[in-house]
Amino acid sequence: MDVGGIEMKVAKFGGSSLADANQFMKVANIVQEDERRKFIVVSAPGKRHDHDYKMTDLLIQLGTAYVKDEKYKSYYITIMDRFTTIINELKLDQSIVTEIEERLKSIMSLELPFDEHLDHFKALGEDSSARILSAYLNSQGIESSYTNPKDAGIILKEDDTGVQLCESSYELLANLRDKSGVSVIPGFFSYTADNKLKTFSRGGSDITGAIIAAGVKADLYENFTDVDSVYTVNPTIVENPKAIPILTYREMRELSYAGFSVFHDEALIPAFKENIPVEIKNTNNPSAKGTLIVSDKKQSEYSVVGIASDTGFSSIYVSKFLMNRELGFGRKLLQILEEEGVSFEHVPSGIDEMTIIVRDTQLANNKEDIIVERIKKELSPDTVTVHHNLAMVMVVGEGMKETIGMAQTATTALGEASVNLEMINQGSSEVSMMFGIKANDLHRAIQSLYAAFFENK
Ligand code: ASP
Repeated sequence: MDVGGIEMKVAKFGGSSLADANQFMKVANIVQEDERRKFIVVSAPGKRHDHDYKMTDLLIQLGTAYVKDEKYKSYYITIMDRFTTIINELKLDQSIVTEIEERLKSIMSLELPFDEHLDHFKALGEDSSARILSAYLNSQGIESSYTNPKDAGIILKEDDTGVQLCESSYELLANLRDKSGVSVIPGFFSYTADNKLKTFSRGGSDITGAIIAAGVKADLYENFTDVDSVYTVNPTIVENPKAIPILTYREMRELSYAGFSVFHDEALIPAFKENIPVEIKNTNNPSAKGTLIVSDKKQSEYSVVGIASDTGFSSIYVSKFLMNRELGFGRKLLQILEEEGVSFEHVPSGIDEMTIIVRDTQLANNKEDIIVERIKKELSPDTVTVHHNLAMVMVVGEGMKETIGMAQTATTALGEASVNLEMINQGSSEVSMMFGIKANDLHRAIQSLYAAFFENK
C-alpha cells in the first residue's frame, strides 16, 4: 500500500509475531528490510499453536501462585524454558538467559501489594522480548538498543478510569527521534513519575505503539499481527470475506465497538490525535497489502466498509401513553440507571416509548430486578419489559451518507433472511447503522447483509 512521503515508521509486533525463535527471525527480516523502521515495539511471546499459553498468562499464573504461597515451580520452569529455547535457537549469548532469570528472581523477592507485584511479573514478558530482539538484531549486524519505556519518555499516572499517559511524556518522547540505530521498546507497561511500574489493560502493547508513534511524530504506525488485513466481516461467519484495503479511524472505532478484535478501540487514540496513519500487516506474509487506517479517505467502490457484530446485550423497554409530553421522563429514567451504576449503550425512542440497550454484564447481581421495580414505582409506565440474548449488528461506512437506499438494502437483506428486527439506530453522523436482533439469528443476518453489500455489486 502506498502511503507516500514516509520517512519514519514505528512498527509494533504482537505476541504471535514473537511466539518462537522463527518468528523473531521473521521480525528481524522485516526490520532489516526497511531502514525507516526505527522504533520497534514488542509484545510478550504469544501462542505458538491453539493449545499453547501466552507468556503473559504464564507470568500471571506464576505471580499469583507465588504471592499466594501456592505451588509455582512448574510455571517458573515453563517460563524459563520458553525464553531459553528462543535464546538458544537464535544463537544468542547465555548471559541473556541469566539476566532474565535474575530479573525474575528479583521480581519474586519484591514486597508489594498484590496488584502492584503482579504488574512486575506481567511486564517481564514484553521486557524480555525487547531485550532478546535487540540482541538478535545486533547479532545480525543491525545497530539496535533495548529502550526501557520510561527512558523512552512514557510517564504514566493512575486515575479512576485506570492507567493514563501524562501529557508531559510527549516532550520527552520527541527526543527519541535523535537516537541512532533501531530502538526496541517493550510494550504494555511503563512507570509513574514516582517510579511505580504499571501495565495497561490486556493487549496494551498496541497502546504503547501508538504512544511512541505519536511521540516521535512517525509518518506511519505499522501494527504487525497474524492476518493479512482487516476483513469486511468475521471470517468465522462468512467464508473468505473481502479484505478492507483502507478505512478511517471513525469506521475502525465503530467496527471495533461491535466486536472487531484487531484492535483495542482506545489503542489508536494517540496516533489518531496526531493524524498518523496506521497499517495492519502480517508478520507471516509481509508482502500482503494489509489494511490502512487513516483520518480521511476518498470515496471507495463500496459505501459500506465492514459489518461487525457483538452478542451479550439486553434491552429494557419502557412505554407510557403521552410520554412525549411528560417533562423529565427520559432524564428520570436514565437517572435510575445512573444511580444503580449501570451504563447504557443506546437509547432508541418513539413518541410513547424508550428502549435502553445495555450489556448483559451491567444487569448482573440482581440489578435488573431493582431497576425494573424502581421504574415501575417512580415513573408509573404502562409497560416495562426486559429482553435478553440480543445481538447488535453494525453496518459501517463513511460512504453511506452519500448513498441513497442503504437502510433499505439492509432491511431487505434482513427480511430475506427472516430476521426479525428488534431495533434500528442510525447516528446522525451516518457512519454506521445498527440493528438489534436476536442472538440466534446472528449468522443468518450477517451472511445476508454481506451478500447484499459486498457480493451483489
Ligand atoms: N502481552 C500482553 C497481553 O497478552 C499485552 C500485549 O500483548 O499487547 O495482553
